[in-house]
Amino acid sequence: MDHDVVVVGGGPTGLMLACELALRDVRCAVVERDPAPSNQSPGQAINATVVDLLEQRGLMAPLLPFGAEFPRAHFAQLWLDPTRLPGRHSYSFAVAQSRLELVLEQRAAELGVSVLRGRELVGIGQDDQAVTAVVRPVAGDGGGRDHFLRCRYLVGADGRDSTVRTLAGIGFAGSDTPFLGLVGDVETASAPAVAGRLGAHEFPAGMLTVRPIGPGLLRLVTAEFARLPDDPRAPVTVAELRASLHRLAGLEDPDPRMVWMRRWDGATRLAERYRDGRVLLAGDAAHVHFPLGGQAMSTGIEDAVNLGWKLAAEIEGWAPPGLLDSYEAERRPAGARACQTTAAQLALLHPLDRMGPVRELLRELIQLDDVNSYFVRMAFALDVRYDLAPPGAVATDDDGAATAHPLVGTRLADVPLKTRDGETSVARLLRAGRGLLLDLSGESAEDVVAGLSGWAGRVDVVPARPAGGGDEIDAAQVLLRPDGRIVWAARAALRAAAGTPSLTEALTRWFGTPNRS
Ligand SMILES: Cc1cc2nc3c(=O)[nH]c(=O)nc-3n(C[C@H](O)[C@H](O)[C@H](O)COP(=O)(O)OP(=O)(O)OC[C@H]3O[C@@H](n4cnc5c(N)ncnc54)[C@H](O)[C@@H]3O)c2cc1C
Repeated sequence: MDHDVVVVGGGPTGLMLACELALRDVRCAVVERDPAPSNQSPGQAINATVVDLLEQRGLMAPLLPFGAEFPRAHFAQLWLDPTRLPGRHSYSFAVAQSRLELVLEQRAAELGVSVLRGRELVGIGQDDQAVTAVVRPVAGDGGGRDHFLRCRYLVGADGRDSTVRTLAGIGFAGSDTPFLGLVGDVETASAPAVAGRLGAHEFPAGMLTVRPIGPGLLRLVTAEFARLPDDPRAPVTVAELRASLHRLAGLEDPDPRMVWMRRWDGATRLAERYRDGRVLLAGDAAHVHFPLGGQAMSTGIEDAVNLGWKLAAEIEGWAPPGLLDSYEAERRPAGARACQTTAAQLALLHPLDRMGPVRELLRELIQLDDVNSYFVRMAFALDVRYDLAPPGAVATDDDGAATAHPLVGTRLADVPLKTRDGETSVARLLRAGRGLLLDLSGESAEDVVAGLSGWAGRVDVVPARPAGGGDEIDAAQVLLRPDGRIVWAARAALRAAAGTPSLTEALTRWFGTPNRS
């Protein structure tokens, strides 16, 4: 076997997945068609959930110098205020997609991932033991001869036109909203008219967003709904962009110096399955939708974090039955939800003359705290809750443990914690990519640790208390998966923890049968 896992596509989803796998010592290769990292950044922001996921793996620190916290969100370009939510404040983080990809590729390389650039996947064969990937060097690299990579699993993170999805025969149903969409970066000094229109604007003919993205650079995104490109495959010209800016907003810059430009369009599609045997899909290969509110790339990164530890468990040989299938069960509904909520936003943006009154009503409604909170949680994917309680779970079992505790299925906020070893946080305790039993009871945890020794190496046991001294976590003990999702929680401390039926069940369900000591 050449690799345990081959990931096709070195965009944000594929690189994040590679990092997750390598964190667990899974031998992983990324096959990427582009010979060099891209300087093109369609994506400009990650949502609050992804900020947490990256923090969980120590990946926010290298991004901080290149981005900024953005404590706002929007629904169909109606502005929302995340700072009005109770509790810990969430924010999206504005950062160029190309920078995020660089940081992820660097981390992947540090962890020993082979990133095979300038190679494209052209064929797949699979049996019940392995997958064979047929990989071809792109023109001018390596003489053009196909070679074969054998692996136990292959993941298609190869974007919206996914070759993997096509070869696996997985349908991609949905709809296309035809329009003329252009995106690119312009040198600010060369485009004073555009520079005078910073912000997100709606017009009867479409939308325009102008945003500073670095010293002397502006990001432009246009969409003209009543117009189609003459040739959707032709490269964008400066003349075409100038004409679009003029039609949309009456802007006229005679000689804008563009750093890059490309087209974009408005497909909303969802893969009918995320898995075909040993082949899986993630990111845009599995779901595409109108890129509003930082949801698209963010949904893909959460796919990667959900899938990584499950594949690693399969490779390491301790995956309980059904673990890998839980990836589709959890993430496909999240993809469907992103498709639905962005389609709703697109409907509110066009046609503006008919939608205007609805938008005004919505603008009034989002002044209400509950409505603002609902939309912020949706935009930041904070409302994604998986159905992780075991069938027939009750709120409190005989031991006082909550198998259907309200926290089960949610992510635990990144609360600062104090442990015997000093100050830390929920996210930092998850850095190694293992499960975590967080014991906040304040009592001696020795019997808890002893009770969980059969899951050593899969689950860490950490006694801690919130650094703020408050009750930010509404539980005495919580069990988290490596992706940060809570699978079990108890309000009262359970001393001989592994002897507790509901905890033993949760450990076995998510972390397999215990090792015999
Ligand atoms: C105008 C615009 C603005 C956007 N803004 C945002 C935003 O602010 N926030 C956000 O979250 N999202 C945004 N998005 C969406 C975001 O860019 C995508 O969701 C994201 O790129 C998807 O990442 P991915 O890794 O799944 O796929 P991709 O980024 O498409 O990566 C797929 C990779 O696979 C490679 N590949 C394809 N086929 C093969 C093959 N056969 N063999 C080998 N390699 C292959 C490609 O070269 C590519 O590198 C925006 C999109 C657009 C168009």
